[in-house]
Amino acid sequence: MPQDKDHGQAIAPTQGSRIDAYVDRYAARATGMVASEIRALFSVASRPEVVSLAGGMPYVTALPLDVVGELVADLVARRGPVALQYGSGQGDPHLREQICDVMRLEGIEANADDVVVTVGSQQALDLITRIFIDPGDVVLAEGPSYVGALGTFSAYQANVIHIAMDSEGIVPESLAQTIYALKSAGNRIKFLYTIPTFQNPAGVTLNAARRQQVLEICQRADVLIVEDNPYGMLGFDGEPMRTLRADNAEGVVYLGSFSKTLAPGFRVGWALAPHAVREKLVLAMESAVLSHSSFTQLAVGQYLATQPWREQIKTFRELYRERRDTMLTSLEALMPAGVTWTRPAGGFFVWATLPEGLDSKALLPRAVSERVAFVPGTGFFADGGGARNMRLSYCYPEPDRIREGVRRLAGVIEQELRVRDTFGTGSSPDRIGVDTPGPDLA
Ligand code: PMP
Repeated sequence: MPQDKDHGQAIAPTQGSRIDAYVDRYAARATGMVASEIRALFSVASRPEVVSLAGGMPYVTALPLDVVGELVADLVARRGPVALQYGSGQGDPHLREQICDVMRLEGIEANADDVVVTVGSQQALDLITRIFIDPGDVVLAEGPSYVGALGTFSAYQANVIHIAMDSEGIVPESLAQTIYALKSAGNRIKFLYTIPTFQNPAGVTLNAARRQQVLEICQRADVLIVEDNPYGMLGFDGEPMRTLRADNAEGVVYLGSFSKTLAPGFRVGWALAPHAVREKLVLAMESAVLSHSSFTQLAVGQYLATQPWREQIKTFRELYRERRDTMLTSLEALMPAGVTWTRPAGGFFVWATLPEGLDSKALLPRAVSERVAFVPGTGFFADGGGARNMRLSYCYPEPDRIREGVRRLAGVIEQELRVRDTFGTGSSPDRIGVDTPGPDLA
């Protein structure tokens, strides 16, 4: 770090500075790690007067926080020496058993020995990518896909190829054709990354028939599936969907998380993997962090053992259902003609498409000055797609704020349509650059 010659103190580059003394020394993979220009905008968007339809933050206020507090105090008092000690690289054995009980609700029969507890499912994504991807290897992903996964794939220099998706999830024909074309051109496909249920960002769910087709196509082509399922238990109608992993134990790595069914602050997620992959995952986990926090693992274990967690998930489902309903009825009532959107049956997100000639990224600064924020669609594509899309989340704002946010957004879009109709195009998309939103927006 450069030294201040008068005081001998290290000088950190000022925030926002483009001068980086280390730029020539970074590993090639660091070029894929860039802060987003829209982050600055989102720091404005977090002001209370702005309705944020951008963030993917679970509504943890709905938890019995006093009960969680007592549970944590009790844990330290009774099991402090274990809870505050290093743990195993694979994760607490009892918690891994409990995770198998949770997964059974989605049709998965698993052995706790094949589960690795990770720092959120985000770390599981990182470890899987680390053990499978060499620079240039192909990862298939829905278009659009989860921004945090795309960031990880980019950090490991994967070549992400998108598979077309519609209101019923991945289009199997597109998957089969893409695999065929890539293989014919001599590419190595390392895995298909998919969020089949209540997808982030599109809010759509892969239907049951297509689940079987996707499994068959991947099995035939020998493509591993990474099934990311943080929202699976947050369906608004009926029982949880059967997971891909439930029907194929050997060809699927399943990622789960307590971030949305309990709280992301514990940072407890997991991977359930075929045995050989599980061994690699444990080694990768140890090299990354030695072991996950014993403290938060035991706290989650204690919560599952002593609290009515299924009831709590029901509370979350009802809360998010009401917010989804509010968003859909507000969109219906207020959006100008030509704007379309998905109708999620669970999860946190609606994916909206703007009319021809409009660009969501160009619209964002105007929206923020009208006190509403969303995430522009381009962040969810590795190939520059998504210019006319926006992700609208309903998980965090109260229903009346959702209504007000949609009203403000509709006004901005209407105004933009008038600009388009007068000048032939909406605002220039060049005002802001690449977006890789941070954790609170993921
Ligand atoms: N996958 C998806 C699809 C997500 O939406 C998120 C969080 N927004 C994650 C993984 C990461 O979640 P966590 O690390 O909190 O488990």
